[in-house]
Amino acid sequence: MSKDSRRFRQPIVVVLGHVDHGKTTLLDKIRGTAIVKKEPGEMTQEVGASFVPSSVIEKLSEPLKNIIPVKLEIPGLLFIDTPGHELFSNLRRRGGSVADIAILVVDIMEGFQKQTNESIEILKEKKVPFLVAANKIDRIPGWKPYDNEPFLVSFSKQSKAVQQRLENAIYNLVLQLAQLNFNAERFDRVKDFTQYIAIVPVSGKTGEGVPELLALLAGLTQRFMRTRIGFVEGPAKGVVLEVKEDQGYGYTIDTIIYDGILKRNDTIVLGGVNDVIVTKVRNLLLPAPLQDMRISKTDYRSVDEVYAASGVKIMATGLDEAVAGSPLYAVDNESRLDEYKKIIKEEISKIRFQKNITGIVVKADSLGTLESLVGALEKRNIPVRLADIGPISKRDIIEAELAGKEAEEYGIIAAFRVKPLPGVESSKIKIIYNDIIYQLIDDVEKYINDVREKRKRKTLDTLVLPAKIKILPGYVFRRSDPVIVGIKVLGGIIKPKYPLMKKDGRRVGEVLQIQDNKKTLDKATEGMEVALSIKGNIMIGRQIDEGEELYTDVPKEDLEILFSNYKDIITEDMKSVIKEIINIKRTEDPLYGLNIQV
Ligand code: GDP
Repeated sequence: MSKDSRRFRQPIVVVLGHVDHGKTTLLDKIRGTAIVKKEPGEMTQEVGASFVPSSVIEKLSEPLKNIIPVKLEIPGLLFIDTPGHELFSNLRRRGGSVADIAILVVDIMEGFQKQTNESIEILKEKKVPFLVAANKIDRIPGWKPYDNEPFLVSFSKQSKAVQQRLENAIYNLVLQLAQLNFNAERFDRVKDFTQYIAIVPVSGKTGEGVPELLALLAGLTQRFMRTRIGFVEGPAKGVVLEVKEDQGYGYTIDTIIYDGILKRNDTIVLGGVNDVIVTKVRNLLLPAPLQDMRISKTDYRSVDEVYAASGVKIMATGLDEAVAGSPLYAVDNESRLDEYKKIIKEEISKIRFQKNITGIVVKADSLGTLESLVGALEKRNIPVRLADIGPISKRDIIEAELAGKEAEEYGIIAAFRVKPLPGVESSKIKIIYNDIIYQLIDDVEKYINDVREKRKRKTLDTLVLPAKIKILPGYVFRRSDPVIVGIKVLGGIIKPKYPLMKKDGRRVGEVLQIQDNKKTLDKATEGMEVALSIKGNIMIGRQIDEGEELYTDVPKEDLEILFSNYKDIITEDMKSVIKEIINIKRTEDPLYGLNIQV
């Protein structure tokens, strides 16, 4: 179709859902179908996306004419190739998403799972309408597969019992959606698609139901989104999906153009790590046409222009600083350059920020993931002090340390797909890594709660404090059960019930009582010479000796709490004991005392 006859651009479709529910398989099936059924000369491969032409959708829905009459005005559908939360979050567009509609994939045998619910949350927040693909219908016991048939055709050929099983499973999904305040129905029973979510039973494996899925996506978008998907001839608007270093091409950006036309030599503006990038399109690249059904996209052909909606790779100078998730605008009039730069700056500064509050540091690999992370953290009442993209820097560590001084639980960095820069000393603070956004958020929340719990549990008088003592030669009053000896406190504080250990870390028992001149003491401090009874399976001359030095066996947690909450009781003599204790304990536990600066 020539661009002049276009009234609509192709709607952009994303696939979301729980892990293993079949997102990738379904997308592969749709792509494969498009390649097989397309007209000669029609291209289906784009960068980061696949195009399903209307000709394909029309052919597939031919048998459905009586049930879903679709006369297509849109040129086809553009599917984003990578399913899931992470890439979806980079499809950002002010106040919403570049995606026009989503397929929420649910394993019909498993129903809604954690990430299904998360997907719905994200879709609601970004105001993206969706339909549900009830996937893996071929796994319903007794199901007879009819490859690539419409669901309704295949369903009519199943036995009554199998049909009932499918109905029950669909009904479960309807109930689960009702709990989330959505009306839903099997697609062929929906009367009003603005009120009901359509559930399409499919199999990504056999292709059953794929015709209906495509017909509905096309039908619904062209009926209900006429303004949104109206084709505009103006300069391109898009979003940076990924920044890549491609062999032979240098740094390039994979973009989705959702509005207008992008031409070679156009001036474009987009977000950069340090500043807004203004550059000229040197080359526009699309995957080279495939000879067979391979779905790899490694070779490129260059084109003079692309029009929305399109997935295209852009070659230009200065893209090494480009930021994934950033908006991209083509500027056809130099006098408007500053206006666009300002728009981008403002949008980015909302997502990358530094506030003077007690909160955590968040670092992510792209604007989209950063925005999702910060949004989700704040929803859980976890304050964010610094939000930025790129590797963890010295500044991030310092900010986390500052926060940690105000509230220990916030002295952390949540890191999504980023690492510390070379040479950045990161052992001083806790960095929580996870490559799945929602798991990272769970990990951060758990850490914060754990620290708070520990603090509640432990008050000063329940802590084991650091101390070092020496058994004075010639002062053995009782050799065993319990041992009673004269000792000198060389440093720190010792109290009854404290466990004791030798220089090599072996436990030797527990302090029973401290006495001075027959008077019982509740503690002994540096320099004091007192009598100590020690409970344990030990004997002077065997496990311990006269003249030997012993340490209190301080649990890791206790040491951390001492430093975070009771720093004021740490004396100089206790400090040097702590250093020795850390050395002893490190041989068993390399993390012992890791966050502590003596
Ligand atoms: P994703 O994590 O959601 O992308 O899930 P995948 O597409 O990787 O699928 C997970 C597993 O389910 C794989 O072993 C697939 O072969 C299988 N699977 C996906 N779709 C279907 C289906 O429709 N029927 C059957 N029987 N298996 C499927």
